[in-house]
Amino acid sequence: MSGLTPMMQQYQQIKAAYPDTLLFYRLGDFYELFFEDAQVASRELEITLTGRNCGKEERAPMCGVPHHSAQGYIDRLIRKGYKVAICEQTEDPAMATGIVRREVVRVITPGTVTDSSLLDEKQNHYLAAITLTGSKWALAFADLSTGEMSVMIQSEESTVETLLNELGRIRPGEILADAVNDTTLNNEDAASPLQRLHKWSQGAGIFLTDARSYREMALSDKTYERLYRQFQRPETIAVLEQLSDKAIETLAVLYEYIESTQKRTLEHFTHIQLLVHQKTMVLDLHTRQNLELTETLRDKQRKGTLLWVLDKTKTAMGGRMLRRWVEEPLLDATAINQRLEAVTYFLDHPLIRQDIRKLLQSVYDLERLIGKISFQTANPRDLLALKQTLINIAQVQNRLGSSTGSQLIDQQMGLVDPKETLIDLLDKSIHEEAPLQIKDGGVIKEGYHQEIDELRSAAKEGKQWIATYEKNERDATGIKNLKTGFNRVFGYYIEVTKSNVQLIPEYYQRKQTLANCERYITDPLKDLEAKILGAEEKAFLLESRVFSDIRDVLKTHIADLQQTGRAISTIDAIAALAETAFQNRYQCPKVENHSGITIRNGRHPVVEKTLQHHQFVPNDTTINQQQRFIHLITGPNMAGKSTYMRQVALIVLMAQMGSYVPADAAHIGVVDRVFTRIGASDDLSQGQSTFMVEMSEVSSILRSATHRSLIILDEVGRGTSTYDGLSIAWSVIDYLHENIGAKTLFSTHYHELTELEETFAGVANYRVAVKEKSHEVIFLRKVIEGTSDKSYGIQVAKLAGLPEEVLEEAKAILNVLENRFDASQPPISIFEKRQECVKVKAPASQILPQVHPLPQHTRNSQIHYKKLKNYLGS
Ligand code: ADP
Repeated sequence: MSGLTPMMQQYQQIKAAYPDTLLFYRLGDFYELFFEDAQVASRELEITLTGRNCGKEERAPMCGVPHHSAQGYIDRLIRKGYKVAICEQTEDPAMATGIVRREVVRVITPGTVTDSSLLDEKQNHYLAAITLTGSKWALAFADLSTGEMSVMIQSEESTVETLLNELGRIRPGEILADAVNDTTLNNEDAASPLQRLHKWSQGAGIFLTDARSYREMALSDKTYERLYRQFQRPETIAVLEQLSDKAIETLAVLYEYIESTQKRTLEHFTHIQLLVHQKTMVLDLHTRQNLELTETLRDKQRKGTLLWVLDKTKTAMGGRMLRRWVEEPLLDATAINQRLEAVTYFLDHPLIRQDIRKLLQSVYDLERLIGKISFQTANPRDLLALKQTLINIAQVQNRLGSSTGSQLIDQQMGLVDPKETLIDLLDKSIHEEAPLQIKDGGVIKEGYHQEIDELRSAAKEGKQWIATYEKNERDATGIKNLKTGFNRVFGYYIEVTKSNVQLIPEYYQRKQTLANCERYITDPLKDLEAKILGAEEKAFLLESRVFSDIRDVLKTHIADLQQTGRAISTIDAIAALAETAFQNRYQCPKVENHSGITIRNGRHPVVEKTLQHHQFVPNDTTINQQQRFIHLITGPNMAGKSTYMRQVALIVLMAQMGSYVPADAAHIGVVDRVFTRIGASDDLSQGQSTFMVEMSEVSSILRSATHRSLIILDEVGRGTSTYDGLSIAWSVIDYLHENIGAKTLFSTHYHELTELEETFAGVANYRVAVKEKSHEVIFLRKVIEGTSDKSYGIQVAKLAGLPEEVLEEAKAILNVLENRFDASQPPISIFEKRQECVKVKAPASQILPQVHPLPQHTRNSQIHYKKLKNYLGS
């Protein structure tokens, strides 16, 4: 560091403590970045790279952003996966001797943003920490903006897969895990849990932070002490007592990281939720994606998803709650029915529903408001929002009362406390038209604080004093247009036009000369000024102190307010489900623990909303427990097979999250999981072929499904040659039937499979009906019993606009193939046959085709089953 200027030395010292961040170093009105940081930032933000003298021969590379518009730049860097350390001047430059003291006041990382455009208000933004030891894991996660902290304990049967599924569900912005740099990873086995986590997070675009140094700090007694001090509520202590050492350690790592990045109080973390994933359904990533629960498959949009249809919540926190319900359907019929009863209450009382929803409209995001109160970033408008929120919550409480008859609603209302004392306090203290910033003054209402009132009136009277002084001076000097004014440079002054300067008295001191006037100050004027400005300044200071006092009072209510926030979110989510059910004509499903699935006139909740030219055709479904539980569905492309299968899965999921369903009636036996294998979801980023992806997905389904699961398989086996594909599909069904007994919907083009209905009692054939009319196919969209005899591939291709020539050729080849079973002729290949056609310039159909017959597919699926096992083993 020798040779560096003192400021650059200070910079280097601070930077050394934050090596993995971009250091935003406050210099006057700018945040400046130096050296490598400057190079990175100028590239990523497209801002000019300049230089600054640093004491050495070469200037230090530098770039900067204005401090008042820094947020946008920071957001952009965070979105790209960088961390930003904010280094502020922590002493008044006027008071400093030498270099102004500077400190890092916050580190912003992808998982710890709290106040930025990066936060989607209807979605939690989590930071997660993981401890991995062999295949054992512990997971803790927190949302800094709401103060939510959760820990998940691993159940007996959960694996690394379970962990990845959970992470996929909570979608943290950042994950803390050990040893995630490349060198250590290279020493790890490719299939090790850490490697898999690493790969997974790369694929998912989630930022990984090396947790080792934080773990080291966390393992000291100090962190534990602070952790226990933070979470003192009896129910939270009870949670902590149930946790294993590893789980506590994970919480401590998370806590340590939050503290070291935030460097401010975390009062809004008051309790820890213990998650045991038995209570809610685990939905793996593919299933969530395939069923488009919260994001569309193609463009990751919200529009076109189940959540998009269901989310009619009025508050941001209600929106987050509903999203969680969509992602975590329940497994216990009693809990499900409680939610359904609550929804029914709101449907049966439309006026109450309307009133409640109207009140919720001006309920602000209580959870995030509390976060701001805890971080001391709440501004005057936030407190007004809090007041409005509490007033409306009190009205919700009045309107609903505490004996609706719905157990869930009554229980939630029991948790609501609108805090009349706080409403009163805020009403008395905060001015209704308070500015956004406390520093603009005028925040505290008149009559709340005597001293503020006195100072304010002194300041106000002062203006009167100046006016009087001005009049007196005018009279004394005889200068008619003499006037007083104020500027920031030299305060109050007297202004006299050039034509009158000969009239001014001697004691006027000239301060400034303008084009046609002169400005002066006088001693009495400066005395008045001191009094006025002194009073104004004191009033401001006092106001901000009183304002912090009010925030401190609010802080003592954080835990209760959070509880109220959660209860109100639940009410909002329930009322929203009722509204959706009402608008979309959904019906209440009958949900039981043990039974099959029966749906009368079921509809796809999203497709029925997006069809423009025709009506959605509803379909019935009956899947029994013991018999006919595997449905083989045939039908041409575009007939509606996958829509139908997804519709069944979505209706089941909706029922289990406690929502009414798009059907005339539904009887749902609770399923433990829903699995899907749909379409070609190429995972090219991980370098796997479509077929490998398909097989590994099928493999994980066969390994995890139970007889209580619902499985959707769309054309399994399509990714390979016909024989292979057919045999794999065959043996998968065999396995599902003999070893698992899960309710399965299986669409296929292999018509040969439909013979299985005769072999297995559990298999039933269905087809999606089409009508043929003068070589065109008409889709009827009705799922009926039986098998379809034709694929109509060429007709569908025609619909898709394939050129006429290609269609003709395809028809000719099809003709050759369809007549292939002429065993009397010596076999030749299709290719040769086609050559022959070309040679004589005759259409293929005119030449008697004699190609190799397809071998009768073997009923001995054992060989193929072995083949499959080989795939599955890999
Ligand atoms: P498949 O899986 O058989 O190829 P899809 O399920 O993808 O067919 O359906 C093709 C299209 O048909 C859908 O995009 C939808 O617009 C329409 N469709 C499917 N099912 C229905 C239905 N029950 N009612 C009306 N339109 C439907």
